[in-house]
Amino acid sequence: MSRDTVIVLKSVNYSEADKVLTVFGKHLGKFAIFAKSIRKITSKNRGNMQTLSTCDISFFEGKGLPVLTESQLLSTPDTDILKDRFDNVKRVLVMLNRILQENDPNQKVFEILLSVCKKNFDIESVNKFRVIFLKEMGFLQDFSVCNICGKSKGLKYMDISSFALLCENCYSKAGKSYKLGDNPYKKEFFTQALDIYIDRVIKEI
Ligand SMILES: [Zn+2]
Repeated sequence: MSRDTVIVLKSVNYSEADKVLTVFGKHLGKFAIFAKSIRKITSKNRGNMQTLSTCDISFFEGKGLPVLTESQLLSTPDTDILKDRFDNVKRVLVMLNRILQENDPNQKVFEILLSVCKKNFDIESVNKFRVIFLKEMGFLQDFSVCNICGKSKGLKYMDISSFALLCENCYSKAGKSYKLGDNPYKKEFFTQALDIYIDRVIKEI
């Protein structure tokens, strides 16, 4: 019997009563797990293993997919709040389902994702998470130099098309740039630039 603490990323119906879940384990990374009879009303796991719920689980590992045996719900986002943040949820789930590799544990990413769930996917947490995730996965360089001149001073602007920073001397040479300001993570331009950047990463992998 194996155990882990997992966040449910995806849930696909399989036959009449079963599901195949994709979960992100704190210690095991992303993996698929077979949830037998979970769609039956009598299933103890049914309410626990909803998408974005965090659970302690036990499972058997044999041939084929691991099989869920027990689950204990630890936390789940507030569904009333999530209703209005569907785009933010999608931003995170599409990225994790497409970019995160299976069996590649990353506790830092796990803990930050857990905090995004606990904060009910507000845009600031979602964007900070997406930047950290892309850096951890090697898809984003450090924001430490200007994308045009390579200097590290006065990095106050963002080049939207490349999701890179620009200095005060160079920003006017870029096609479309925005001033970062105090908290760029909350800003619409930052969200859009990140959306475009992640779309491009997904298409290229
Ligand atoms: Zn520059």
